[in-house]
Amino acid sequence: MGATPCTDGITIEFGCQIRVELKDGSLESILKAFCKILPEILRDFIQKIVVGFGESAMAQSRKPFCCDECGNDKEFIWKTRHGKETKILTVFQWLRLEQLQVQCKRCGHKMYITRKLLGMERMKRIPPETYRKLGLVGSLTTYRVAKKIVSMFGWTVDKMTIWKSVQKTAAEIDFQLDEKGLPLGEADGTGVGIKGIAKRGKELKVFVQYKSGGGVRVAGLDIGDYNGSWDKLFGKSVKVFRKFSRFLLITDGDTSILDSLKGKIKVLVQRCLWHIPYQAKYVLWQDGVKSKGKEWLEVMSELMEVCAIRPLVDCQKTIEKMIESKRKRLDAVIQHCLSKGYTHTASYLENARLICLRR
Ligand SMILES: [Zn+2]
Repeated sequence: MGATPCTDGITIEFGCQIRVELKDGSLESILKAFCKILPEILRDFIQKIVVGFGESAMAQSRKPFCCDECGNDKEFIWKTRHGKETKILTVFQWLRLEQLQVQCKRCGHKMYITRKLLGMERMKRIPPETYRKLGLVGSLTTYRVAKKIVSMFGWTVDKMTIWKSVQKTAAEIDFQLDEKGLPLGEADGTGVGIKGIAKRGKELKVFVQYKSGGGVRVAGLDIGDYNGSWDKLFGKSVKVFRKFSRFLLITDGDTSILDSLKGKIKVLVQRCLWHIPYQAKYVLWQDGVKSKGKEWLEVMSELMEVCAIRPLVDCQKTIEKMIESKRKRLDAVIQHCLSKGYTHTASYLENARLICLRR
């Protein structure tokens, strides 16, 4: 066993002797036994290779690493090839590796070179290729099921590690507008509280951009206050917005961050019709109208009719005629509310009328 330099890297011979006890020769038993010995083989395998590369590095006059203190990359001496153990999570499982330590001959600084040789960041236990895979599995199902799934493939990872991997992966994801996409986007808040968030009054805001090949892509994602700023949603995309000669943005959110792009961006304020009867319940309550009472039903059923969309109508003239009739019906509801003294409802609908049924 040992490392020999070859044309492209080094060659390492690896031999191992394993003792396995099996009750029978079924494939299931053999695979079970393999899963048991895997950590041991894997650890020895990685350990030997790291030591091999460590020795090869130390044999070079100029090392592939340098002293953290003085920057020297030439003169080092070995302290140990089998030092203090460190834990690293591979895609198979947690492994304990004995660290390689060298000492700088120039300043006397002692340092571990295991992670440097493995191409890992200092102090980090979970490399990106591991947490990204776990993060993907963990984001698609519950952590309990994710643990079950990974264990089926021989991983032994606890739920906490999967949860952390999802967080880490998510933190790396950065959404923004794609300059190759269409100059058309929509942004909306869910208007519904988020599960798992202690603070109330927060909603999920989503900004989507239409793709040239059809469909949409997420260009922004933010958790913010119901009536809060939308800066975070659009902020990362301001530079890309600039690259478009014009852009149509449909939203009822705050777009003040895009004010410098006026002329380039046309913002179309569109309140989803679904919101109107939904929010009307609240203003009717403010006006003291008894829920599900005769008066309440009259106003609500009328609003439902006004806001209902007929999906099969594709004739422009018919649509215009329908909007005209809807506008008249809405005006009648507003008049009715005013005559009854439902001031909150009347002014709410007046406002909605301006936004939604504008030509
Ligand atoms: Zn040094």
